[in-house]
Amino acid sequence: MEGKRHIAILGSTGSIGKQTLDVVRQHPGLFDIDLLTANNSAELLISQAREFDANNVVICNKELYGQVRDGLKDTPTKVWAGIDSACSLVTAGSVDIVVASMVGFSGLRPTLAAIDASKAIALANKETLVAAGSIVMRRAYERHAPILPVDSEHSAIFQCLLAAGGNPVRKIHLTASGGPFRTWTRERIAAATKDQALRHPNWNMGAKITIDSATMMNKGFEVIEAKWLFDKDPSDINVVIQPESLIHSMIEFEDGAVIAQLGSPDMREPIQFALSFPERLPLDNKKLDFSEIGNISFFKPDTEKFPCLQLAFDAIGRGGNIPCVLNAANEAAVAAYLHDEIGFYGISEVVSRCMDEARFIPEPTIDEIYATNEEARERAADIIKTLK
Ligand code: MG
Repeated sequence: MEGKRHIAILGSTGSIGKQTLDVVRQHPGLFDIDLLTANNSAELLISQAREFDANNVVICNKELYGQVRDGLKDTPTKVWAGIDSACSLVTAGSVDIVVASMVGFSGLRPTLAAIDASKAIALANKETLVAAGSIVMRRAYERHAPILPVDSEHSAIFQCLLAAGGNPVRKIHLTASGGPFRTWTRERIAAATKDQALRHPNWNMGAKITIDSATMMNKGFEVIEAKWLFDKDPSDINVVIQPESLIHSMIEFEDGAVIAQLGSPDMREPIQFALSFPERLPLDNKKLDFSEIGNISFFKPDTEKFPCLQLAFDAIGRGGNIPCVLNAANEAAVAAYLHDEIGFYGISEVVSRCMDEARFIPEPTIDEIYATNEEARERAADIIKTLK
């Protein structure tokens, strides 16, 4: 790689943030940490800033500012507080790549700020594209801000497209593990505890996305994400269950030929490719041993058992601000599920009712997206109260 790349990580103490720093740790001399941000994990933010000599850190929860400032007072790292600081620091001339790895809708504003400053975006925060895909993609195009997918499926499609030589793609085959409840009956899933839902068979991820994987809302979000990233109609995006999580996704050409991208289920691989693109660097991970793998199996997803997947297709089919409603209602419902306030199928019920009752805006502005997010969360909170 030519020259050091200077990285800002939005959400450095989350699962993707930590794995990004592990990639950086493996390549001393190639990357430099300009900015780290965290919501509440003050202690981890302090130790990350020390290890990587970060130029700036932002603790978004302003009440923890004093703790972070004191923890770094003997270092040259500058300490800031609040999301506005993160939005302004990502635009600094010293930043080359912004890793957008905050969880949920809160990642939208700082990601848009980075796009407006024409930064390369390593996008892990899929909710940004779900809630505001048309706005994000238009701005990225206008500002010449490349968006490099970090989500493993989208990184896989991106890698397949690099091998496509510009030939048109007939279909995207988006693979899904099926989550922990793939083989369970609907009755058994209905009674699932959050501990069972949090036990993902293959991937080690944060709590929000692990629940989204159990409901398959995550795959629905990824359909929407793929639509925006690769300009594909959702009817040309086929979701297929591949429980071993070895095929990260596939593209199919007009002649029926299919290109797949395979690898171990390890997020550091797509993270590293986004950071080093177009080059590939060595990575200390588990390599595939095909004779040990033996079989790779495929199944059709069951939308009766996993209604969230269908809700996501419905939302992108309706378009406008409805995917934003889908995301907001889901964030509220997943939080309620994690607090034992609703059951597993309460999540899809909350999302479905919020979508039915939402005020439809065909071409929302960014302010209308923020307003839609607030309204849908309020409505979701009311519905959650009735389900308790
Ligand atoms: Mg994924």
